[in-house]
Amino acid sequence: MATQMTAPEFDTIRYEPVQNGVARIVLARPEVHNAQNSILLYELNDALDMACHDNNVVVIIVAADGDNFSSGHDLNPRGDRPMTSFKPVTPWGGFDLPGQEGHWAVEQEKFLGFSWRWRNIPKPTIVEVQGKVIAGGLMLVWPFDIIIASEDAKFADPTVEFGVNGVEYFGHPWEFGPRKAKELLFTGGAIDAQEAKSVGMVNKVVPRDQLESAAREMAEQIAKKPSMGLKLAKQAVNQAQDGQGFWSNQQAALSLHHLGHAHTRIDGIGVNPEIRKLIKDQMRDI
Ligand code: ZN
Repeated sequence: MATQMTAPEFDTIRYEPVQNGVARIVLARPEVHNAQNSILLYELNDALDMACHDNNVVVIIVAADGDNFSSGHDLNPRGDRPMTSFKPVTPWGGFDLPGQEGHWAVEQEKFLGFSWRWRNIPKPTIVEVQGKVIAGGLMLVWPFDIIIASEDAKFADPTVEFGVNGVEYFGHPWEFGPRKAKELLFTGGAIDAQEAKSVGMVNKVVPRDQLESAAREMAEQIAKKPSMGLKLAKQAVNQAQDGQGFWSNQQAALSLHHLGHAHTRIDGIGVNPEIRKLIKDQMRDI
């Protein structure tokens, strides 16, 4: 029998005590709408690893403090640590190399690498989502197995504004269906919880004050099943997606994404300098 693991100190997330086979990991930067800096992503990854390696944990919940689940990548790097100061979780390195080479490596590691790693966690995962989920916020939602959303949840990827095809973990066609994916990417518009449920992206919509209890109830129900059966069921579904080209699609889409990043670097095209304001407005308006 494995002994109970003790959570290390985290600055940007919280690892709650394991209860009835369920670990709950909470994003804890509500003052910046849980914007993702490198510290948060590496801490979340460490916490997920901890839950994976603890035999007392059968199901993992990911949640977020505050009114909004996540505003995406932190566009204000103050207080963050350089990528080269973390131990990489993928074979990628050279994060400080010039040009597209270093940037490509950073996004293979920190964005696609993490999301793909979390999508392949062998244990069932549930994410509780409230408020706004903007751009990179989707990459902390889509990799998990079950999405429970509160009625006020809204999802949007406005990153075409950056001259790219969408966020680095390109789940859009799979999550929304191809036509809705195109509409949302072209317009940068949002999809609400009910509509997201109707296209199959969200499992369940509940009132805001029942979000945590609904997720826990489902998690504890799942945690009573044999862990072996759960892992096999999860892997069988993931393999079905992989057989349809899910992983190849991720790599192909990230290649286009970097064509977009490179495009904005040449001839002084640059990114719309108003982008921060646009994202800020979107956090308020949608
Ligand atoms: Zn990018």
